[in-house]
Amino acid sequence: MKVVVIPGDGIGPETVSVAVAALSLAAERSGAKLELIHESAGHDSLKKYGTTVRPELVETVEGADGMLLGPMTTHDLRHGVAGEINPSRYFRKHFDLYANIRPARTFEGAPIRIRPFDLVVVRENTEGFYADRNMASGGSEMLVTEDVVVSMRRITRVCCERIARRAFELAMTRRKKVTIVHKANVLKLGDGMFVETCEAVAKSFPEVAVDAVIVDAMMALAVREPERFDVVVTTNMFGDILSDLTAELAGSLGMAASINASDRFAMAQAAHGSAPDIAGLNIANPFSQVWSSAMLLSWHGQRSGKPEYLDMANRLETAMSQTIKEGKVTRDMGASLGTAEVGQALLANL
Ligand code: NAD
Repeated sequence: MKVVVIPGDGIGPETVSVAVAALSLAAERSGAKLELIHESAGHDSLKKYGTTVRPELVETVEGADGMLLGPMTTHDLRHGVAGEINPSRYFRKHFDLYANIRPARTFEGAPIRIRPFDLVVVRENTEGFYADRNMASGGSEMLVTEDVVVSMRRITRVCCERIARRAFELAMTRRKKVTIVHKANVLKLGDGMFVETCEAVAKSFPEVAVDAVIVDAMMALAVREPERFDVVVTTNMFGDILSDLTAELAGSLGMAASINASDRFAMAQAAHGSAPDIAGLNIANPFSQVWSSAMLLSWHGQRSGKPEYLDMANRLETAMSQTIKEGKVTRDMGASLGTAEVGQALLANL
């Protein structure tokens, strides 16, 4: 398996280096072939090459089986033509990584805010309120006058259908329940189509129980009884917001793992940002990145039918759970170990 590794901005180099060390050791333990191709994107690349995403990098990624992308500082990227491209957006759009799978679950030994729970947010990743990925050319935010902005949301039946299918397939491997989260009471056409399409897909999965919840109520229900949910399928912006909430409820945003997947390629990437407030302090939680890497291995193992990658994923997740159980965690999870020390404890458990 060839994996392109990009440290990213802010805390990225600290957390990605833990994930890389863990991946390498897990490969050794599982007897799996793993080639890591170290690359650069984001602000580091902008400084070195005048662009956040080089065409050569895209070629390298095209020849790989997967990618491990560190978090990116994106709020200051304004001029795409001047090389300030949002790498996360670029790769999601270029590789059509339509399924953003974001698990959130409590771990034994970690601070539990409410009660134990285990759910997955399945977020559509290629359209919706994300103005930078809706159009073949240009963005979908328009400055009508100096004081008037129109932001346009795109919803297409084909994107609703494919994300719904991914959610139901995932539910079949779990507790067989899908919750559709929407705002069809207001966005009657767009979210109306999303709900209708999810319900149509549900007919092919008669064993899966389905319900639908309006997104504002969902925020309250996720806090009140998160254990009620198994797989939650939703549109882009709602999924982005909801998954930060569920990660924090499960212990910390520093546990927010995710993969972005198409039917052919997947990119592991923590769901949180580059956390500039704690960058370089050796206090960032590396588990979001480690867990994302394990998800990438699982995805590859299932797709290729090669059990050694499933074994690697299993080793990583087991070692991570054990390290958390031992209380060897960063301060966001209630202890005071540094990022590198948590990495050492993880390697010892591996
Ligand atoms: P953030 O997710 O980076 O941080 C929010 C809070 O969570 C901060 O207090 C931070 O310290 C904490 N946090 C995040 N990850 C953590 C970890 N692993 N361990 C411990 N604490 C952690 O959000 P932000 O500060 O709003 O955004 C910073 C930058 O990241 C912005 O430029 C934003 O555009 C970008 N961003 C990028 C992505 C991405 O690359 N996928 C996602 C979200 C935000």
